[in-house]
Amino acid sequence: AVVITGLTKRFGDLEVLRGIDVRVGAGEVICIIGPSGSGKSTLLRCVNLLEEPDEGSVVVNGVELTHPDVDLDAARRRIGMVFQSFNLFGHLTVLNNLTIAQRKVLGRSKAEAQAVAVENLARVGLADRLNALPSQLSGGQQQRVAIARALSMNPEVMLFDEPTSALDPELVGEVLGVMRQLADEGMTMLVVTHEMQFAREVADKVLFMDGGHVVEEGPPAQVIGDPQHERTQSFLRRVL
Ligand code: ATP
Ligand code: MG
Repeated sequence: AVVITGLTKRFGDLEVLRGIDVRVGAGEVICIIGPSGSGKSTLLRCVNLLEEPDEGSVVVNGVELTHPDVDLDAARRRIGMVFQSFNLFGHLTVLNNLTIAQRKVLGRSKAEAQAVAVENLARVGLADRLNALPSQLSGGQQQRVAIARALSMNPEVMLFDEPTSALDPELVGEVLGVMRQLADEGMTMLVVTHEMQFAREVADKVLFMDGGHVVEEGPPAQVIGDPQHERTQSFLRRVL
């Protein structure tokens, strides 16, 4: 489980997160929706410590990542992240994109890292593209490689920040399909997305953020289907 308590983050005078409390149970999928600038990316970046929160705590499976004595690298290893821009190494083959961190960070042997890579590429339907360069793949395929790369580190939690926003519409489905499969396999996931259909069908819980607060949260049928707050209603009118 991921337990986020009282998380605040400021950039100078700008208070971007104003006391966020979120609990993601083991195997749960939480979708985060909300307008641009509401703090969604900052929240994910605080969870994996790409940003240092000003106050509050993040606890992953009983380990407080925000504890001052924590080993940051070890803490980050527990969490996989997939971004809007796929961030693959352009000069490395698909296989080497998946093995480099396993070898450098986890100290796996070449043979073991390759075996794990092949297994995870098969999971995302790309076992036949081991030797391709990212530039030889479609955007949807590149994003699936990025997901397989994150999975190769055996994360306990996966964070997704608008993973389909940069894709041509016809490629969105294949990436959402992989994410849905991961959810079915029991991965604990925090997903920032504008894909309301995905949120409705896959999320256990939806959070609507605005102005650094969680304004409304609950099952998708409630938050998307029957929102109670005016701000949620007006946001959904714009995106649905
Ligand atoms: P979007 O839907 O556009 O991705 P978001 O909800 O992910 O928006 P954030 O990226 O978390 O929003 O940004 C929240 C606010 O924090 C914005 O006003 C943004 O300009 C500001 N912000 C984010 N990162 C920084 C930073 N490193 N330095 C200063 N301000 C920042
Ligand atoms: Mg964002």
